[in-house]
Order: sequence, then C-alpha cells, then structure tokens
Amino acid sequence: MTPSTANVTANVADFDLREIDIFAFCRKGGSAEGEIAVRDLPRILAETAEDAPATAADEAIRYTVQGFVQEDAAEPGTAAVQRLFLDVTTAGRVWQDCQRCLAAFAEPIETDMRFEIMASEEEADAVPDEDEDVDVIVGSRRFSLLALIEDEVLLAMPVAPKHAVCPTVHESLVTGADGEVEPEAPPEEEKRPSPFAALAGLKTTKH
Ligand SMILES: [Zn+2]
Repeated sequence: MTPSTANVTANVADFDLREIDIFAFCRKGGSAEGEIAVRDLPRILAETAEDAPATAADEAIRYTVQGFVQEDAAEPGTAAVQRLFLDVTTAGRVWQDCQRCLAAFAEPIETDMRFEIMASEEEADAVPDEDEDVDVIVGSRRFSLLALIEDEVLLAMPVAPKHAVCPTVHESLVTGADGEVEPEAPPEEEKRPSPFAALAGLKTTKH
C-alpha cells in the first residue's frame, strides 16, 4: 500500500519537531515534511537583514525529513549491524544584505543532506571521516529536528551574499556572465576630439 501524502505529512502543530525519539523515527522509516516560518527559527531571524520587508519573517522554509535503516552485512557468528540514517532537505528564502549594493534581497536557500545517527559522542568520534556525503551526528530520544533544519539553513547561507545583478549599482560595475567586471566602453566621440573641437581650441588659445 502506498501511503498518501497526508499520512507522511507532519506539521509542527501535530508533530513536535523540537522533541522526537530520533532512533525510533529512523528505525520505523519515519518521514515528515512541512513548512516553518522564519519567525520560528530565531537564529535565522537574527541573520535576517534589518531593512528587509516586514514579510521577511513570514518566509516559509520547506523541509522534508526521511529516516531509514541500513543493515551492514554481518560477520559469521555476529549480529547484523543496524545503521540509522536521516535525509534532510530544506528550501526557502532568507533576506540578507547584498554585500555589493547593500540593499536587502531574498537569497534562495536549498539544501540536501544525509546524516548518520550515532548513539553517543564516543561512537560518533570513532567513525572514520571518509564519507564526505554523510554527516555523522549524535542522536537523542529528545532530538530537535527543528534545530537540525535551522542548522542546515544557516550553513547554506552565504558569508558574503550578493545579488546576481544588483538593481541599483552603477552599470559600469555590473558583472558579466563570467563573473568578470565589464568596464564601460567610453563613447567613440570622447576618444578622439572632432577636428572642429580642435579648431575651437586653437581659436580660444590664440590671442
Ligand atoms: Zn546588490
């Protein structure tokens, strides 16, 4: 049976993202998706541009969370090792100040990350740091998915946010598609004075 969207959708209201048993969630293949307003993410709100429109706090961060289990092949005579994983995606917009023109703009954010859930700090530290595609984190029976989602958005926010093309910056500073600054070509007339202008110059300097 394919679960309907309603069965896998969990909102903050009917599912406390701040406190879940992340081990149980992953073991049963739990999933959740929904939207969180930036106003409910205090660390994102703190990074929001001061001159952003009032609606900046209403920007919705969409998220999906999917837990799953991976059984590692067991050595003969030992039990299979159950590894717990969590896939987290986020998407939305965060208002930041453009570092080129200083105007506030909505920076699109999109993340897609896989986490392996470990039982303790010791266990997490023992994991060889070889898989760059998986982040190792320590789980808890009172785990905050909200904080994890907020972390993901924070990490995705650029250190120096910039418009692709600034709306108000002088056109001589507009960058081309290759990211190079294209200097404004001086008009042809200014390069070479017209013979008449040269004559006029002669006229005024001659006394
Ligand atoms: Zn700008």
